[in-house]
Parts: sequence; structure tokens; C-alpha cells
Amino acid sequence: MVTSAHRMGVALLGATGSIGTSALRVLERQRDRFAAVALTANGNQQALAQLEDIWSPAYLGLVQEDVEAPAHWGRGPTSLVAAATHPDVQVVINAVVGAAGLDATLAALRAGKRVALANKETLVMAGHLVTKAATQFGGALVPVDSEHSAILQCLAGRRPDEVRRLVLTASGGPFRSWSAERIAEATVADALKHPTWQMGSKITIDSATLANKALEVIEAHHLFGVPYDRIDVVVHPQSIIHSFVEFVDGSVLAQMGVPSMELPILYALTWPERVPDSGVPSYDPVAQGALTFEAVRHDAFPMLQLGIEAGRLGGAAPAVYNAANEAAVARFLDGRLRFAGIARCVASALETLADRPGHTLDELQAADQAARLHVQDHPGE
Ligand code: NAD
Ligand code: MG
Repeated sequence: MVTSAHRMGVALLGATGSIGTSALRVLERQRDRFAAVALTANGNQQALAQLEDIWSPAYLGLVQEDVEAPAHWGRGPTSLVAAATHPDVQVVINAVVGAAGLDATLAALRAGKRVALANKETLVMAGHLVTKAATQFGGALVPVDSEHSAILQCLAGRRPDEVRRLVLTASGGPFRSWSAERIAEATVADALKHPTWQMGSKITIDSATLANKALEVIEAHHLFGVPYDRIDVVVHPQSIIHSFVEFVDGSVLAQMGVPSMELPILYALTWPERVPDSGVPSYDPVAQGALTFEAVRHDAFPMLQLGIEAGRLGGAAPAVYNAANEAAVARFLDGRLRFAGIARCVASALETLADRPGHTLDELQAADQAARLHVQDHPGE
């Protein structure tokens, strides 16, 4: 596909996933502004071949190497970097799940591209390296996560010293009102029933444990430079208010809208501009009815506090938290760990590995690997 001069070239990493599919709907409606130049998938060759027919992108990449694929496609984990640094690409939507997205985020930022980041694990694992790359090479890091998009919209260029507090909202997940005893025995099917969002399985489990909110607190810390003691979480089951910013004079701004990832995806592409046709229906306050708020039940959801503490510790601790969580969630989804075992494995990994150094990418990757091994070998009880 030839990218016409006035259209921005987009690389979409994780094009076959939940965010990837929403992003393609956004690109479809914004065809006069954006062109899909590069698309990648992990192992779903058929789905990627269908996208090639529809979009005719210049570059396709399939990460899994043991799957058959057309000879002209890029192959292996390096195909993510090749897509992200393609010369016709100006914006990279990173919608890969997990630490696997890190190299591509760094490579895109170092090539001066805008990264529209859904892949929050990247920022959690290597926050200082990613934020440094975002400022050094003329690129930009713009969040896709709805909470961070909300905060970005509320901040609207205000200075950090005008901000008193960020308040991230959390739906509370499927176990919001369950007892801790019942949560401990929750099945995979129970945990995959998210009340307000349709998402990939890993983030859906993270929403059930509230690990997702811990990842988001760390993400907010790095994106907006706000210390941890000025980032709060409140449960808001309707997912209409996507987050709040409280300013030093006590004024509180919220960003609202019906739950849809298409608006934050579009905003990450066009920020700081707003353009028509996000695909999001109007918010009707009367039809929606009451908006409610609750405190987080930390006793029932230990993963939130564990993650925030890892963030405060810094060094390799957030990378350990993230990798241990990824490994534990995979074990839970495989039926090899009880729901309560996720927090046990992650707490144990942090006890053993949190004080490892985390200055360089090598150190962070070593901590990530050690945490995955730790969880594999953990009894889970
Ligand atoms: P998903 O599982 O639906 O999709 C993941 C995509 O990444 C797929 O295209 C898959 O092929 C690809 N992928 C998976 N493993 C990979 C690997 N090892 N290497 C390369 N590619 C790989 O997940 P999702 O729900 O779309 O989430 C993607 C990211 O966006 C996650 O970081 C998640 O936390 C974040 N996010 C998702 C939502 C949402 O509504 N789904 C909201 C906010 C943030
Ligand atoms: Mg979110």
C-alpha cells in the first residue's frame, strides 16, 4: 500500500487481539487520516492472512516461528521491531500482551515514532528506560489505557505542580462483592466474566485480581511523573468515569463516556487534537442512572497492594511483579493454579527477587526470567 502524503502510517502490533480489533475499527473510520502500514500477530496465521486481504499492508509479521506462513511475511519476535521501525510508519499502536512488547516499544521510541501504548506491561517492566527513550529521540508515548487517556485529557497541558492527586477508577471486576473465601476458589470461567469490558484473557484475569489496577498505578507514575503517595484507586462499577485528576486548589476533573476502547485508541493517535467519529455512542446520564463509588477491599484483593509496593520499591521489583503475574495468570488459565494461588506466587517471587538490580535492560530481563522460573516451581499453595 502506498501511503499518501497526508495520511499517517500506522503499525499495529497485536492486530488480531481485542485492542487490535478495536484499533482496526478506528482505522477503518479514519481511512482519510491513517493508513495501516504494518500488522503483526502472535500465532494466528489465518486471522493475519484475512487482515492482509482487507488492508494490504506493506509489512506483516508473525511472531511464532513454528507456524506456516507466506514467504513474504516477517517472522519471529524481531518482526515486532521491524514493524515498529518501518520507514513508512509514524505511529505504532502497541497492543501486544505482556513483556513481549518491550523491545518494539523501545525501538519505536528510539526511531522517533509516536507509540500509542496499550501494552502497559512494557512501562511497568522498564518504566525509566521507556520514559527516557520517549523524551530523547523526538518521539512520544501516548497511553491507550482508558484511565490514562482520561488523565491525559483532564491534565490538558497543566503543569505537574498544579496536580494534587490522580484517582484511577476500577470497575472492581467480577468478584467486587464476593467474600475473600469465595474468591479464593473462583474458577477460570468465573474470572473471565468481566462486568463492563470485553478484553483478552490475560487482562481479564488481571481485572479480577486487581493486578491490572496495580499495573495501571505504576503506568500512571511513569507517564505523568506523579509520586505513588499521590495516586489513589477507587472502585466505580459502572465504568463511566474513566479517572479523575484533583488539582492543588481542590478542583477535580473527571473524564467520562460509555465504556469503549475506541475513543482512547483514537485519542492516542490524534492527541492533542480531537477529531470527529470515534465510534463511541453518546453518554446519556439519565438512561445510565446512578454512578457509584466504593473503597477497594484490599484484604480480598492483595494483588493491588503488592503491585503498588513493587512500584514504590523500584529497581527490578516492578519487572518481577509483572513477570510473576504473567506466569501465574498463565498457570491459572491452564488450570494449574487456584485463583488465590496467583497472589501467593507473586508475593513469593517478590520476597525472593524484588531487591535485584534493575538499571539496565539486561538486568530487567534477567529479573523477568527469574520471576517466571520462580512461579513455575512454586507449589502454588
Ligand atoms: P489479546 O490477548 O486480545 O491480544 C493480544 C495480541 O497480542 C494478539 O494480537 C496476539 O496475537 C498478540 N500477542 C500475544 N502474545 C504475543 C507475543 N508473545 N508476541 C507478540 N505478539 C503477541 O489482548 P488485549 O486485551 O488486546 O490486550 C493487549 C494489551 O492491551 C495488553 O497489554 C492489555 O493489558 C492492554 N489493554 C487492553 C484493554 C482491552 O480492553 N482489551 C484495555 C486496556 C489495556
Ligand atoms: Mg485500563
